[in-house]
Amino acid sequence: MIRLTRRLYYDDSFISEFEARVTSCEGADKGFKVTLAATAFFPEGGGQKADTGFIGGAEVTDVQEKNGEIYHYTDIALPVGETLTCRIDWEQRFRRMQNHTGEHIVSGIVHEMFGYNNVGFHMGADDITIDFDGFISREQLFEIEMLANRAVYANAPVIAFFPDADELESLDYRSKLELTENVRLVRIEGYDLCACCAPHLRTTGQVGVIRLYDSIRHKGGVRVHMLAGLDAFEDIVIKSRNVTAVSGMLSAKQNEIAAAVERLRDENEANKLEILRLKKEMVDSELRGLKPTEGNICVFTDSFDAEQLRSVVNAGMELCGGICAAFAGNDTDGRRYIMGSKTVNMRNEAKAINSALNGRGGGRETMIQGSVTAGEAEIRGYFGV
Ligand SMILES: [Zn+2]
Repeated sequence: MIRLTRRLYYDDSFISEFEARVTSCEGADKGFKVTLAATAFFPEGGGQKADTGFIGGAEVTDVQEKNGEIYHYTDIALPVGETLTCRIDWEQRFRRMQNHTGEHIVSGIVHEMFGYNNVGFHMGADDITIDFDGFISREQLFEIEMLANRAVYANAPVIAFFPDADELESLDYRSKLELTENVRLVRIEGYDLCACCAPHLRTTGQVGVIRLYDSIRHKGGVRVHMLAGLDAFEDIVIKSRNVTAVSGMLSAKQNEIAAAVERLRDENEANKLEILRLKKEMVDSELRGLKPTEGNICVFTDSFDAEQLRSVVNAGMELCGGICAAFAGNDTDGRRYIMGSKTVNMRNEAKAINSALNGRGGGRETMIQGSVTAGEAEIRGYFGV
């Protein structure tokens, strides 16, 4: 296949700025699509996202490859035939190369150790994921992470080349293709040999650091979450700051905060149960004070929650011939109420009660809830208790 656009990143993946002649420019869905005589912009492919940047004064928002041609999607039209200065968003590209080269190292080690294949690669917003077609335990993942970082310190060269058909035939490489020519292989000396069209770092040392976070069962194999390079470093810094903050709050050593949080969680569970027990005791105490009556019952509390008020009303309804009304609050701030009855249709009665006690609320035939601003004496007067 004849490559229409010369790919500068094949020869040098560290070109961030270059001059190129615009060979075509036509309208696209949003903006324009532009071809260049040569480009260092990497088009989306193999799980790696497209570069962004500028061609002259035009912003490049996407780069796609179609039939060997590379299309740069821009916000404004560009003059065909003119040579312009092109700039790649280098910070973004460099971080992607760190993650991508790190992924090669990890995949090469996994292939060597277990014979598993990398069957999926994705660069997400928070991390990158690699899918392998076999199981990797968390202990094994730690071992792989250690080996991957040792590969970084080894500062092995990363070399891309196009072998001829005979050489290709003789090579054992990952992502084996059906193609016999124009196959670009990327070798990380001692760690990986893989067919790949993307830009990579020059040496493994440039990856800086590789973090493997988790290996989760996925489609008969595992999905490994990882970060490499500056992305990994930033993540480590952010997490470290959080650990420092949590350690301070818990007065626990940084490496012992998980155990401290576990104790805190157990204490919290015990506290919750104790609160439930005390709340029930408060309800029981109120209920002990209730006496059977043909009339109404009113119970005034400072701070009962809805569940406590409902428990009081449920019990009180059985003891009275009229309405059992339970309140929480005070004369200054007003009161929340729940009221119930076995003889009075509360839904019908709600309007009269709210009107008399300056309140609002409603509900079912047997039970209503709402709030009133009337004082205790006024409420007692209304219900005759
Ligand atoms: Zn690659």
